Amino acid sequence: MRITVFLGSKDGVGPGYLAAARDFGTAIARAGAGLVYGGAGIGLMSAVADAALEAGGEVIGVMPSGLVRREGLRTDLTAMHVVETIHERKALMAELGDAFVSLPGGLGTMEELFEIWTWAQLGFHAKPVALLNVQGFFDPLTDFIEHATRQGFLTEADRDLLHVDADPERLLAWVRTEAERRRDLPEDLSRT
Ligand code: AMP
Repeated sequence: MRITVFLGSKDGVGPGYLAAARDFGTAIARAGAGLVYGGAGIGLMSAVADAALEAGGEVIGVMPSGLVRREGLRTDLTAMHVVETIHERKALMAELGDAFVSLPGGLGTMEELFEIWTWAQLGFHAKPVALLNVQGFFDPLTDFIEHATRQGFLTEADRDLLHVDADPERLLAWVRTEAERRRDLPEDLSRT
């Protein structure tokens, strides 16, 4: 199994976010899963890759050529795909992963998370999508998602396509179970 992880190109404030990214990288590798991420050598993105590599895991990066200078291309990964556009990056990261997990991050992280979640809503894929809620970072977002559901813009079924947990091991266990359960399901039955 491979897990595509979306997370910040910055460190965040305080040591907690970096530590959580490292812990999650270690946990992915120890679970015998591969890590797919944006390939950058900065911020939480670099930290998750470092830890997964140190724990002996497979790490695959996907980087658009135009962002190499800005984000730093890791040359020590198991595999690195340099693609032309950011759209190709997202498409390849979506294809390579059996599941998607977002850690704290900024606009790029949010964009990737929301796109993969909307693709699940539209039935384009049946792969699990989850948030690792480090230090309650996503609490304002989950509050907003509840608000959007109460206001009738999001069905409960679509809301529930996004799984939220603060515990990395429990999150990984959920991801594994769900990825296996959904693997053979027709896409429009993925929510049952
Ligand atoms: P950020 O969360 O803004 O720190 O960005 C995290 C990663 O998302 C970085 O590798 C960005 O290059 C990437 N990113 C930024 N904008 C987009 C986008 N529109 N689509 C996909 N990835 C993006």
